[in-house]
Amino acid sequence: MAKLTVRDVDVKGKRVFMRVDYNVPLEEKNGKMVITDATRIVETLPTLKLLIQKGGRLILTAHLGRPKGKREASMSLRPVADKLQELLGQPVAFADDCIGEQVEKIAAGLKDGEVALLENVRYYNEEEANDPAFAEKLAKVADVYVNDAFGAAHRAHASTEGVARVVAKRGGQCAAGLLMERELKFLGDELEKPARPFVVILGGAKVSDKIKVIDRLLEKADTILIGGAMAYTFRLAHGQKVGKSLVEPDRQEMALAAEAKAKQLKVNFELPSDVVVAKPVPTDKLNKKGKPVMDFVNIQTVTDAIPDDSEGFSIGEQTAAHYAQIILGAKTILWNGPMGMFEDARFAAGTNAVAKAVAEATQKHGAKSIIGGGDSVKALNQAKLGDQVSFMSTGGGASLEFLEGAVLPGVAALSDK
Ligand code: ADP
Ligand code: MG
Repeated sequence: MAKLTVRDVDVKGKRVFMRVDYNVPLEEKNGKMVITDATRIVETLPTLKLLIQKGGRLILTAHLGRPKGKREASMSLRPVADKLQELLGQPVAFADDCIGEQVEKIAAGLKDGEVALLENVRYYNEEEANDPAFAEKLAKVADVYVNDAFGAAHRAHASTEGVARVVAKRGGQCAAGLLMERELKFLGDELEKPARPFVVILGGAKVSDKIKVIDRLLEKADTILIGGAMAYTFRLAHGQKVGKSLVEPDRQEMALAAEAKAKQLKVNFELPSDVVVAKPVPTDKLNKKGKPVMDFVNIQTVTDAIPDDSEGFSIGEQTAAHYAQIILGAKTILWNGPMGMFEDARFAAGTNAVAKAVAEATQKHGAKSIIGGGDSVKALNQAKLGDQVSFMSTGGGASLEFLEGAVLPGVAALSDK
């Protein structure tokens, strides 16, 4: 069902209560908290500018970190208000709380096109509990509700769900911001009726994380390419030796069932024909958890059995070339999950080759390419190809749930068109 967006709503003179994702990384410098990456703030500017231009009175709400219901000074949104003011080029009022008299006073003082940011909504436990009385308190300053925080939409919290229900019950409109609109367009509409061939690339660590996505996409895709550690559970299920690779022995049935379903639905289901393996050896250094940092020796590519002392860390060159060829013939591409442990340069080649093919299919052959999942986005950015694909989801966990076909509470609460 199509959802109302900020383009559709008349906000002139109205108080627009907007949920944003300002969960930015902060670092302490000379006793002050400083934002180290303002991407999430920058990304909201188009929605804010549109609403300002339409004459709305904006009241922004967000969470920062996990203060667990307490006022935690290091998790204050005040530095975000300063940064937003600078980026918007206009004053941003900051309320020291997210509910109560001060908020109501600031909201009442806003003129058309003016902006206020409320203090961390997770200073209250009622937020994550989606407490109805708390949602009523938030909604006191809301004529219209807007949600532009897709990354928080899979949680039914007071600021993502409860407050929308209150506004809707009063007859107010609840709309998606422009960021949210894009997420719904690419992860939703574009994949509903994909241009074919539709190639899905799935990787990452665990079969159990991705099985629901595999199951749903088997019904839509022409080809599914499997990579990452997930591939070793499939290998194990086929009776192949996996050495010390990350596997889920209790998911072998699931893996075989997915392959059987692919066969039945005539989906081309591909597993890596070669893998890069290495022998893990502990070093003298300890990590944060006090465990030895591992090094990897005897790096080699194998096609059949993975040696007993070794672990698989990536798809091999032959698989990467084969996958790239399939990707270059695609008209729609969905990629979720890296092809290996790309964070280590020695095991990044397979993921990088796939990233390059996705970028080329998009730039040269007009394919639509959609990237979901936090680590997949990191991998693409690491390969410096983030700007060469059609869409990178900001969602992380929310995008995975959306791809599984789940109804996200923060989306369901928005008004239908
Ligand atoms: P996303 O966040 O894109 O959904 P996942 O969280 O499912 O992706 O998986 C990403 C993680 O999986 C990465 O940290 C990567 O290092 C790890 N990974 C992928 N392949 C392997 C492998 N063969 N062995 C160990 N870890 C792997
Ligand atoms: Mg991840």
